[in-house]
Amino acid sequence: MVMAPVIRGKKGEHLGIYEDLKSEGFVRVKINDVVYPLDEFPGLNKNQKHDISAIVDRLKLQKDDDNRSRLSESIDTALNLSDGLVQIEVLDEESEVLLFSSNFSCSQCGYSVTELEPRMFSFNNPFGACEKCDGLGVIQYFDQNKLISDNSATINEGAIKGWNRRNRFYFHQLKCLAKHYDFDLDTPWKSYSEEIQNILLWGSKDKINFSKSFRSGSKIVRQHRFEGIIPNTDRRFKETDSEFIRNELAKMLSDSHCDACGGSRLKKESRNIFINETPIQNITNQKISDALSFFQNIKLEGAKATIAEKILKEIKERLTFLEDVGLNYLTLDRGAGTLSGGEAQRIRLASQIGSGLVGVTYVLDEPSIGLHQRDNERLIKTLYHLKSLGNTVIVVEHDEEAIRCADHIIDIGPGAGKHGGEICAQGKLTDILKSKESMTAAYLSGERKIDFPKTAKKPDKFIEIVDAYENNLQHVTVRIPIGVFTCITGVSGSGKSSLINQTLMPMSSFLLNKANLNKEIKCKQIQGLEHL
Ligand SMILES: [Zn+2]
Ligand SMILES: [Zn+2]
Repeated sequence: MVMAPVIRGKKGEHLGIYEDLKSEGFVRVKINDVVYPLDEFPGLNKNQKHDISAIVDRLKLQKDDDNRSRLSESIDTALNLSDGLVQIEVLDEESEVLLFSSNFSCSQCGYSVTELEPRMFSFNNPFGACEKCDGLGVIQYFDQNKLISDNSATINEGAIKGWNRRNRFYFHQLKCLAKHYDFDLDTPWKSYSEEIQNILLWGSKDKINFSKSFRSGSKIVRQHRFEGIIPNTDRRFKETDSEFIRNELAKMLSDSHCDACGGSRLKKESRNIFINETPIQNITNQKISDALSFFQNIKLEGAKATIAEKILKEIKERLTFLEDVGLNYLTLDRGAGTLSGGEAQRIRLASQIGSGLVGVTYVLDEPSIGLHQRDNERLIKTLYHLKSLGNTVIVVEHDEEAIRCADHIIDIGPGAGKHGGEICAQGKLTDILKSKESMTAAYLSGERKIDFPKTAKKPDKFIEIVDAYENNLQHVTVRIPIGVFTCITGVSGSGKSSLINQTLMPMSSFLLNKANLNKEIKCKQIQGLEHL
């Protein structure tokens, strides 16, 4: 039995419904679980809640096509009648009435989401972006640690940036505030009670007398709440038309993780759509190699498998392209601004492979930058692949392997600046190797090489990084000798930058140069910096 629930748990006599259904030509209704011919529509207690469903059709389902199309027509009718809801009751068995919705909505409470569309999963689109952070994943806020430049200084000494004696308007406000709450402008900031600090930072509940008398005898009478340094800065930042002021104020901003979306940049609805219990943000925050294996191992059946087939193929291909150009260690949610030049170039390259274009000329400037030897090989294979599709590939490159793999080499030199600018050699690798002028050839053939000193200096001092765990570092401890040339190596994404650029560098510039620490440094300690 196919029914259209027209009234759900609503008080009233519902005589209008009777008229409506009659004019639409329905003959039966189900009211509070009892089926009536429409003509015998019972009188209803208007103070009680009632459920009324129009009975659209009763049919026996067999495997023949006739009844299938009749069923779909009946469901359509029901959906139209009750705004996207339909009830199905199986008459042969004792079963509950099944309620379906065509509106992506909860049939119980009516909570609904819009139709699923690709744009819902893009944080660059307002339909997908987290409403709190506008899809940035971070929230900028005026940081009290930056506003109070030195918390051992007093307000009189200028502890609060921009609120010093030179700025009379604001300084006057602070003086009045100090009078009202009875605190002293010669007290170091850190010695104020938390209450006073909060009033200064976030504003006062009391109305403060900000009146001011001038020597000329005139007087301005003003009484209002103190706005607070942070809300004031925030407001000026939003209201100012001056690029200069905005830039100055922006120096006091800090980023924090958006707590609404957890940094995933997507709005709640988008974050709660799952593929086999995995929401999109748990895929995009994986490394490309892991995301690829997620899609390779995904198990779907029946209609779902059919629907997903093409999409899965596309996704797997694209992720494979990214792997092929040596980007397996990147996560899909990495911000474009944080990519190195080589990485950005290789991403564009990966998207080109997928396009399958023919007859295109690709010009690449040192795409191998930052690649480990292992990934370099894959990159070169990719370039070969582009060539075999019927494209032209031109690469500016120092990398020996790339030079050796090229079909045609052009060597420009011999030196730099005014010593360069000539074509020293060109042709196949074998031609180049024969060249007398080419410096590159001399090194490639092994005729010239870099002489390493035979006896290395023995270091006696070390910097020790203890228990580092930034990103994927597995709580490692390393000793780096001082006074010698140390090389940190490993395949791309193995943690080199995490160890050096994100741990050693910021920590030592903080300890040695008092630079700002913008984030937590993930290591227990760094020893031996006193040797530097
Ligand atoms: Zn609900
Ligand atoms: Zn957010």
